[in-house]
Amino acid sequence: MENKDIKELLSYIKSIIFDVNIIADIPHKFKNNNDLLEIDETIKNIRESVSSIGVGHLSHEIKGKGYLIVTLKKLQSSLKNLTWRTKCIAKGDFSRDLEYLGDFSDAFNNMSKTLETLIDDLKESKEHFELIFQTIPDPTIITSFDEGRVFNCNKAFVEFSGFNEEEIYSGNSHTIELYTDEKKRNSILAELNRTGFVTNMEIVFKNKNNISIIGLISSKTINIKGKTYILSVIKDITQLKELEEEIRKLSITDKLTQIYNRLKLDEILERKFLLSSRSNDPFSLIMVDIDHFKLVNDTFGHVVGDIVLLEFAKILKNNIRNTDVVGRWGGEEFLIILPKTAEEGSVLLAEKLRTIIEYYNFPKAGKITSSFGVASFKDDISVASLVSRADNALYKAKDSGRNKVEVM
Ligand code: GH3
Ligand code: MG
Ligand code: MG
Repeated sequence: MENKDIKELLSYIKSIIFDVNIIADIPHKFKNNNDLLEIDETIKNIRESVSSIGVGHLSHEIKGKGYLIVTLKKLQSSLKNLTWRTKCIAKGDFSRDLEYLGDFSDAFNNMSKTLETLIDDLKESKEHFELIFQTIPDPTIITSFDEGRVFNCNKAFVEFSGFNEEEIYSGNSHTIELYTDEKKRNSILAELNRTGFVTNMEIVFKNKNNISIIGLISSKTINIKGKTYILSVIKDITQLKELEEEIRKLSITDKLTQIYNRLKLDEILERKFLLSSRSNDPFSLIMVDIDHFKLVNDTFGHVVGDIVLLEFAKILKNNIRNTDVVGRWGGEEFLIILPKTAEEGSVLLAEKLRTIIEYYNFPKAGKITSSFGVASFKDDISVASLVSRADNALYKAKDSGRNKVEVM
């Protein structure tokens, strides 16, 4: 039965089924055979459709009829459905399942379910993070490392900065503007560059309304999408600092006269004594005591006595140099410390003060005098010995009739 024509036909059919390029045409003898022409066209349609689907061209129109063509059409429509489903998932719509693709549908639907769960978990984690971030009572901010642009911040930071959220995120309020000390900011950045974190660095910030805020900043470098950011938590210690300053002032100030108290005088004395011992700079003390002050109390009462003490301290303070120090030594006794002042100058000052007081009219109490003991640093071995000489000089002034200046 295998004659030459059949052989030629089989060879042609094999070529259109197996070859990439069909070289020959349908054998001449069969050109008018309708069955063969139909098979030829169908195989060519299948070739065209399969090569389109093979490279993912789903818009190609599959022509022809018959079981194979219909199956190919089904595959094409399933792949179109898969494409549409994938687009839905990309938009966050997980509501529909993929059908018509048998085992692949199951695998795809499982993948879609897992993805949905993961995204839900991620959303929930993000919500938790945002909740925690916003609930932190201290100003917390995430900024880009290089330009200090705000990436995220919490409500406490919005309040702290004085800027509104729009201003913060529009980039018009780079955190750099909140720093009053550019050098300090750079040192924080350098430390972050070196170690990745800083802890409790004290910084003075200026908010939008130009109000200074003292903060303790703790920062850490973090990585978001391959870029370096800084997560910073700022503890506002302005009130604490003010309180500290208040306590410090109170601890060194005499409550009645508002000048330094004995504690502060002792501290300054020690310091000046050490300095002068090393440098041999002159340095003097004037011990002042109000004469017959008991009589003031006895005559006019304690309240007037207190007013006199306050007034007396003011006179001393207003008539010494800025570099001199005056404090209440105790009771109605005051000490003036005169750095870089030798005996002669100190006696002159004591004399000047004595005269001012002598001629001053104290409220209610009227005229009051005071006695002065001057001692200048020589070869004293301790503060106590210098103070003792000033004390002795004062005693001498009292002993010789009061309203006097004496030196020891
Ligand atoms: P002298 O000339 O010898 O210094 O005599 P004086 O009376 O000033 O000295 P004295 O030591 O006898 O008395 C000091 C008085 O100062 C007694 C004390 O009640 C009074 N005094 C001390 N501290 C205060 C104070 O804070 N307020 C008032 N109102 N009086 C005070
Ligand atoms: Mg006295
Ligand atoms: Mg006294």
